Amino acid sequence: MKACVFKAPGAPLEIIEVPDPKAGPGEVVVRVKNCGICGSDLHAAQYGVLPSGTIMGHEFSAVVDEVGNGVTGFELGDPVMVVPMINCGVCEFCRSGQALLCTRQTGIGFEAPGAYAEKVRTRPEVLLKMPPGLSHRAAATVEPVVVGLHGLHRSKLLAGETCVVMGAGPIGLVTTMWARFAGARAVVVSEMAEGRRAMALKMGADAVVNPREQSPVKELVKMTGDGPDVVFECIGVPGTIGEAIRYVRKGGRVVVLGACPENDTISPMRALKREVDLRFSAGAELREFETAMALLASGRISTEPMITHVVGIDDFPRAFTALSHPTDQCKVMLEF
Ligand SMILES: [Zn+2]
Ligand SMILES: [Zn+2]
Repeated sequence: MKACVFKAPGAPLEIIEVPDPKAGPGEVVVRVKNCGICGSDLHAAQYGVLPSGTIMGHEFSAVVDEVGNGVTGFELGDPVMVVPMINCGVCEFCRSGQALLCTRQTGIGFEAPGAYAEKVRTRPEVLLKMPPGLSHRAAATVEPVVVGLHGLHRSKLLAGETCVVMGAGPIGLVTTMWARFAGARAVVVSEMAEGRRAMALKMGADAVVNPREQSPVKELVKMTGDGPDVVFECIGVPGTIGEAIRYVRKGGRVVVLGACPENDTISPMRALKREVDLRFSAGAELREFETAMALLASGRISTEPMITHVVGIDDFPRAFTALSHPTDQCKVMLEF
């Protein structure tokens, strides 16, 4: 089969021919339909945190292609969405119902081969059957949608509260969508790229600002008379958490979804004086995957506006490289 592999830090991905995966006992092979490019893939490719030859890709939908001995509940051709984490099932977190924090988690598309390839060999526990009405493209956005839903749950945002979303990349956009869905009184999104500001409006923002020109808090005060109850930090570069602490109203909550790999500094005194709740949000729970799939399938939420580019595998390495300096792209997706 064709696979698109990571070669070296900063180098383009390469398409190579690798043997087709075969389903062993207790395993399933799926044929990939769509796979989105995630910021963490771009980061991994740039900094080379993965061994050469790694097949990345963890935001994907597929159909069942081969069912190994002993696997029940799946048939050839079943459309599935893949939860890209294999938990160990035995550590203290797995046993206490917090599998999200599993200490021996295997990430599909990182430690295990992912979906920048025609087929993936995996385990049935990570396959969720797609509900009727859910397209394969939409199913490939479930993983980032779930990251936003988990952030919403971590924020405890209530209907009628207000928020600022910092950054309108895919995570900022899905967070905006969820804040709107949850009944926020006002959602203001700050984003430097013009194209992404336009997308934020389509995904449910009431107002968008370029933070180089205007403060999102000023905009929110203009609309509601007060600063944000919640600030979602969806950028992940040094300085943005400190900025979020400055933005949030006294006693408000800051939820960090941006994955900043570098050390950062904040002013504890400022956060303390304002009694800010600072929370981090990473993972996702199985029921959040089910919720996201059901709501996408019913059309009550939609990620359609953020899918800007769909490419075949031959054009994929170029599209991947282009996304490290995005212009008008947002969610770029591989399609078979
Ligand atoms: Zn992702
Ligand atoms: Zn575990």
